[in-house]
Order: sequence, then structure tokens, then C-alpha cells
Amino acid sequence: MNAKFTKWSFINSDRITTAAISITSLLVLAGISVEQALAVDYTRLISTPSRATINQNLTSPDADLMIKLLGKPGRLTENCSDLTNPQIKRLIVTRNVGPLKATGLKPAIAALDRIFAQVKRDKPELYRQIGTAGMLCVRKVRGGSNFSNHSWGTAIDIKINRKLDKRGDGKTQVGLNELYPYFHREGFYWGAGYSRAREDSMHFEASEELMRRWKAENRI
Ligand SMILES: [Zn+2]
Repeated sequence: MNAKFTKWSFINSDRITTAAISITSLLVLAGISVEQALAVDYTRLISTPSRATINQNLTSPDADLMIKLLGKPGRLTENCSDLTNPQIKRLIVTRNVGPLKATGLKPAIAALDRIFAQVKRDKPELYRQIGTAGMLCVRKVRGGSNFSNHSWGTAIDIKINRKLDKRGDGKTQVGLNELYPYFHREGFYWGAGYSRAREDSMHFEASEELMRRWKAENRI
């Protein structure tokens, strides 16, 4: 009985090995490395997680609070216009934060630096695909009437493998979903939690709680 069992195990594992070698040969012939074939497609679209399960203990700061904490950044324009508030200007820095160069509010930039350093360590392939569609931009919320949080350089739009995620479709890229816990730990609110029509999962912004903490710590 034992001998028979051993014999069958041997044949099965041998078949599996043969199959694996065949698949590998096919991939090599097609010019694809095994690593590439097994790679996660971080731009693949999935449904955004239920709003009840994300952004716990974090609130999206409205423009009134941002104006109270930092002042009006400039003119309320449709597209990016100049940051004219000298107090805010003093807090704006441009830095290389790992996979990208960003211009934003000093403590937000420091947080991005920590976030991307962790992603680099945990998920190097995702890290390599991270890009940005912008951070500081004084303008209205798209389809809204007040300032976007980009106006103070506290929000960033993330591209995965140069692809932009579509707003308001209830879907997100696998890569953005995997980045979310890193931003959440630093107190950033994920735009996937906005109302259905405004869903904006490439967008991460310093939450109201984080803004208040930076204020209390005299960092802004
Ligand atoms: Zn945005």
C-alpha cells in the first residue's frame, strides 16, 4: 500500500514538473519571463470597496475648514491658477518623494516620503509603477463650486503605470486599492469614499483630523 502510494505521488509530481517546464518553455519562446507572467496587473479595474469599510476615523476636510486653517489660496478658477497667499506659499515645497517629484504642503510631502518608502519595501513592483497626475493646483473641485484640496497642496492624484483611473465609475485600479492602507495609516482620506457620482479613487488628501493635528503641532 505504502509502495503504491509512493509510486503514484512520484508520477503526479513528475507530471507537474513536466507541465511546469513546458509552460516555462512556452513563455520563454514568447519572450515573456516567468516573473512577468506572474506579475500582478496593478492597472486592472475592480469595484471600489464599500464606503463603510474605508476611511475609518477620517473625514474629508471641506473648503471652509481649509480656509479657516490656512487661508484662501488664490482665485477660485476652473483650471490651475497661481497660489497667491504668501502664508501658504511659505509652506510649499517641491521634493522627490521616491517614485515621483511633487509640489505640496510641507507636512504632506513628508508623509508622502514615508508612504512611498514603505511601499518600496513591501511592494517593489507596484512602487515602480507609481506616478502622479498632480498635487498643488489652485482650482475648484471638478463639477463643484468651492476650492479643491489640491489648492493647498494637501491632495495628490496617483497614476498607476501612467494610466489615470476614471472618476465616478465606482471602479478603482488594483494598485490604488493596494496603496490605500499606506495612505490611511498616515491620515490621508481616499477619494474612493466620496459620494457615488464623485468617486475619485486616484485622489488621496490630508484628512480633516490630520489637518487639525498639523495645526495643533504648529506644522502649518
Ligand atoms: Zn485629486
